[in-house]
Amino acid sequence: MSFDRIQEKLAILADAAKYDVSCASSGSTRKNKDKGLGNSTGSGICHSYTEDGRCVSLLKILMTNHCIFDCAYCVTRKSNDIKRAAFKIQEVVDLTINFYRRNYIEGLFLSSGIFKNADFTMERLVQVAKKLRLEENFNGYIHLKSIPGASDELMREAGLYADRLSVNIEIPTVSGLKLLAPDKNFKDFIKPMEKVKNEIIQYQQEKKLIKSTPKYAPAGQSTQMIIGAAGESDKDIMYSATYYYKKYNMRRVYYSGYIPISSDTRLPSLDTEVPVLRENRLYQTDWLLRFYGFSVNELLNDTHQNLDLQIDPKLGWALRNLQEFPVDINKADKRMLARIPGIGMQSVHKIINARRFRKLNWEHLKAIGISMNRATYFITCDSREFYTKDLTADQLKYKILQNIKSKYQKHFSPQLSLFAS
Ligand code: SF4
Repeated sequence: MSFDRIQEKLAILADAAKYDVSCASSGSTRKNKDKGLGNSTGSGICHSYTEDGRCVSLLKILMTNHCIFDCAYCVTRKSNDIKRAAFKIQEVVDLTINFYRRNYIEGLFLSSGIFKNADFTMERLVQVAKKLRLEENFNGYIHLKSIPGASDELMREAGLYADRLSVNIEIPTVSGLKLLAPDKNFKDFIKPMEKVKNEIIQYQQEKKLIKSTPKYAPAGQSTQMIIGAAGESDKDIMYSATYYYKKYNMRRVYYSGYIPISSDTRLPSLDTEVPVLRENRLYQTDWLLRFYGFSVNELLNDTHQNLDLQIDPKLGWALRNLQEFPVDINKADKRMLARIPGIGMQSVHKIINARRFRKLNWEHLKAIGISMNRATYFITCDSREFYTKDLTADQLKYKILQNIKSKYQKHFSPQLSLFAS
């Protein structure tokens, strides 16, 4: 195979892989063993993110962009008139090792269109990981995509060589999936997720009894949802994400704003903007659900089906629940401190620690690093002033927005002026 042809394949298959954002490489503790190549421990994989939040440090490619399916939202769909290519197993192994040795990458993220069927494709992905681990003694990070519908046996094997496995649910609702990917069966997504979850639990239990038990997908599993392709609400998306976190022990759910790539009456038009700000608000919501003790129905429900793009979701919740404020910073419990806009979990811990020694006032809070622009209006402390006074939620929002310097400011609606008074 000529160098030019490999380069051409790389250009095609790396480009096709860029739509998958579920490639963060954290969470693995694989060590370098037997003087092998690479490791995933210590500082972990150094991965960087492009400005729009996409991870770029892994060799991120498809095995092939041939596909038997015709999912409307996918650039690789069989009806798209694009250049196609496929790597051989050894080509991916060689590229990974060569790029790793040149210090271009920290690991491999390998996905694929579906060649003939799920098992035929999954087997090739597993072969790549197996060769890297067993023949090349490669200890770097490997993230394999699970092909929907792949057999249990292949999924079991995949987890023995990969650090992370993921199957992309793609469309957050079953009805959206039926509309945009009619060839796909919802159960085919669930089956590998269930298998991976059970294997992880089983291997972890066995490891407690027998130390030499190998690790199975030590960085867990993740999934990705495309946002804005099927007209779903933020409530639909976050309820769906919560379901996958709980039911399949997902390590991460990724949200990827739909990039219009084809003209199709079922999809947003080609001139639709990528919903970058919405993607960001969904990540913030995800964070609140996982680390701040919020439940999904507090942030999104039948009355509030979509997030307010102008403000972060915690501030949105606080403005709808002003009866909960002001919070006394010197007395509130951890749960309530975490709900104050502008106070992150690190600051919560600092506050709890600092107030053991003295009553905290504005100066102390500033020194701790609290974002006073938002927090000021929702707290009392060992100082006289309390800034909320009798402001309504809209007035408060306006005041706070006046001081926000966000890179997303240009997306904000000119409707803001309506709140001025
Ligand atoms: S199965 Fe995957 S690669 Fe194939 S068209 Fe659907 S989303 Fe694209």
